[in-house]
Amino acid sequence: MNLNELSIVEARIKLDNKEISSRELTLSCLAQIKKLDSEIQACLLVDEEGALMAADQADKIISASDYQVDANHDLLGIPYLCKDIIMTKGLRTTAASKILENYIAPYSAQVVKKLQTAGAVLLGKTNLDEFAHGASTENSAYGPTHNPLDLTRVPGGSSGGSAAAVASNMCLFSIGSDTGGSIRQPASFCGVVGLKPSYGRVSRFGLLSMTSSTDVIGILAKTVEDTALVLKNIAGPDNLDATTLSDTPDNYPQEVSKITNLKGLKIGLPTEYFLKELDPLVSQRIKEQAEKLKTAGAELVTLSLPYTKYGIPVYYIITPSEISSNLARFDGIGWGSAQEKAFDLHEFYEINRGIGFGPEVKRRIMLGTYALSAGYYDAYYKKAQAVRTLIIKDFTQAFQQVDVLLTPTTPHPAFKIGEQIDDPLTMYLEDIFVTGASLAGLPAISVPAGLVPTKDGPEMPIGTQLIAPQLQETRLLQVAKFLE
Ligand code: GLN
Repeated sequence: MNLNELSIVEARIKLDNKEISSRELTLSCLAQIKKLDSEIQACLLVDEEGALMAADQADKIISASDYQVDANHDLLGIPYLCKDIIMTKGLRTTAASKILENYIAPYSAQVVKKLQTAGAVLLGKTNLDEFAHGASTENSAYGPTHNPLDLTRVPGGSSGGSAAAVASNMCLFSIGSDTGGSIRQPASFCGVVGLKPSYGRVSRFGLLSMTSSTDVIGILAKTVEDTALVLKNIAGPDNLDATTLSDTPDNYPQEVSKITNLKGLKIGLPTEYFLKELDPLVSQRIKEQAEKLKTAGAELVTLSLPYTKYGIPVYYIITPSEISSNLARFDGIGWGSAQEKAFDLHEFYEINRGIGFGPEVKRRIMLGTYALSAGYYDAYYKKAQAVRTLIIKDFTQAFQQVDVLLTPTTPHPAFKIGEQIDDPLTMYLEDIFVTGASLAGLPAISVPAGLVPTKDGPEMPIGTQLIAPQLQETRLLQVAKFLE
């Protein structure tokens, strides 16, 4: 087994036993990137020098005579990759957009700082849909990422680079962001674990905002236990992000390892997520996963989330609205590179935003501006917010009956590159099962559910999604462990 194939838990033991060094582990990940990334294109930047320096520092700590092998070194010397919409001081941070082509981040996101303090080794930055707008990573200004399990297919999106990198063992874990499924859907398409924590559980400081009311930073990893370890190291309140929640995070890995069965737990299967239109193979596979939980002692309950069908329309009003506002800052002056001289300020914006943004970003800015404009605000944005409240209520009511919800993450396995890119509506429908938890700010995870046949290629992975009440990451991870 190559070192880059290890899980965090496995690598931790080997590092602490001094069987391997962080430098060796890091070199093995860098070698894998060199070997595969010309085909997969998961990385937008590889910082070999910075990574080896961080690895050497970790090795120094581990080999010191006063080093104690205890739980406080979860991530010391562990190599990871970070989605390129998250600021990394001194390194280019592009959001996969041309408008930030030469942008060097002047500070690091809080998550990156926390990982640095924990001694994790940042290998580089991963590809995404431009500004995280998309579900396939085809909207990157730097070209699409390919699914490592079938290079003709998408890895999902928008954290497609982060998912593909974990699936192809370029790193031990990666950091992504999820606004409306962008961690869970690519995790499902690439066969890895993807966790979107509760809104406010992890600081967004240093994440380039897409939809501030649903943006969450989260984790892509090889196992549930690894996910718990990373969450422990990035969760918690932050003075620099007023939307973080003050509750002290649990010791997730410890809580996950404690549980031996699911007796007394109720798992809800919402009928709206298992409609007859759903691919029967996907439906069957996900129901098999639910049976696993039953075997572990849980009770399965069928219930209804009647407002589910409004998830996509609501999401695609609210998201573009917030995007049109958040992306106003990329004007080529304060933010973003100015490429052309102009006659006046208006023309300057027109030229630079015209060149700098890709078609999907422009579509969303236009849709959002329209939805927020006088005369349409009440009919679109305000109405969408009202329906959002009903979607939240659906979940609140469901959690009076059950502890966790179980659904498919995606309606089908990864589709082919190019297959849907010219059809924005079909692409938006990819998010059918993932936007609900985002609109309600709930924690949700995608856990690999095995492979399903495809009509035009090899069998491909799909994921089971679990959704829990706000701040119940522990419960979510505990149930996820039984699916694994
Ligand atoms: N597919 C969703 C979208 O295009 C997901 C975005 C996200 O979570 N960043 O908006």
